[in-house]
Amino acid sequence: MSVKLEGNIFVTGSNRGIGLELVKQLAETTGEESHIYACCREPEGTRAEALRNLTTRYPGKITTIKLDLSDEESISTAVQAVSKQIEDGGLNLLINNAAINQPAPPAPLSATRKKDMMEVYEVNVVGPFLLAKMFLPLLQRATERDTPEECKGDKIRAAIINISTIISSMEKCPETFPMAQMYPYRASKAALNMLTCCQAEDFKKHNILVTALHPGWVQTEMGGEYAPLTTQESVEGMLRVMSSLSKKDSGMLLDWKGNIIPW
Ligand code: NDP
Repeated sequence: MSVKLEGNIFVTGSNRGIGLELVKQLAETTGEESHIYACCREPEGTRAEALRNLTTRYPGKITTIKLDLSDEESISTAVQAVSKQIEDGGLNLLINNAAINQPAPPAPLSATRKKDMMEVYEVNVVGPFLLAKMFLPLLQRATERDTPEECKGDKIRAAIINISTIISSMEKCPETFPMAQMYPYRASKAALNMLTCCQAEDFKKHNILVTALHPGWVQTEMGGEYAPLTTQESVEGMLRVMSSLSKKDSGMLLDWKGNIIPW
C-alpha cells in the first residue's frame, strides 16, 4: 500500500540540519537489515562531527559517503561506492535533501549575480538530476523482487524524495515573495519540481515513485532561528508522510503534514 522505509537509503546533505535529523530518525526506526548512506562534502571535517558521532552510535548501520553535488565526478564516485557495497541488493530510497540558498536571504534582485543563479541551479537541480540518473539501475534492482501482482498493486519498493519548498509554488508566489525574494533558490526549486514530475512519469514503468516534499519552515542554518519547527518535528512529519505515500502521490508536491501544495 505504501513506501516502506526500510532497505538501502541514501540521504544527501547529512552532516547538519534536516539531513542529519533524517539520518538520525531513520537509524532509530529502521530494522537491522536496513542501511543508511549518509552523504556530506567533508566527512573528516569539523562540520561533520555530529554525523560521525551518529555513525558511532549505530555501528554498522550508517556509511558516510563523500559527495559534492556541484561535481559530476564526485557524484559518480559516490554512486560507484554505494553500488559496490550494496552488491546484488538495490537502492530503496534516495532522498535529495542537500541544497543551497544564495545570496544570503532576503536575496533581493540587486544583490543577485549570474554566479548565484548558476551555482544554485547546479547544486539544487543538476545534482539531484545526475544522482537519480546514475542510481536508476540500483533503484530498478530494488523493484525486481516485485511479483506481477505487486506491480499491479500499490506496493512501492523504490522511491525518490526531492526536498523542495513551499516558496517554489508559482500559485503562492504573490503571497510568499514579499517576505523572501530569493530568485535563484525559488527558480531552482521550481525546476526541481519539474524534475520530480518528469521522473515520476518516466519511472512509472519501473514502479519507482518520485515525490517532492516541503519540510516546513525549520530551525537550521538555512531556515534561521525564528523558524517555528524543530528538525525533529519536521522530520517526524516527513517520515510519516513518506511511509504513507502511494502511487497517486508520485509527481506531486506535498508538505510535511501530507497536504498538497499547488504548483
Ligand atoms: P542547511 O543549510 O542546514 O543544510 C544544507 C545541507 O546541504 C548541508 O548538509 C550542506 O553541507 C549540504 N550541501 C550544500 N551544498 C552542497 C553541495 N555542493 N554538495 C553536497 N551537499 C551540499 O539546510 P536545511 O537542512 O535547512 O535544508 C534541507 C533541505 O530542506 C533543502 O533542500 C532546503 O532547500 C529544504 N528546505 C528547508 C527549509 C528550512 O526552513 N530550513 C524550508 C524549505 C525547504 P555543508 O555543511 O558541506 O555545507
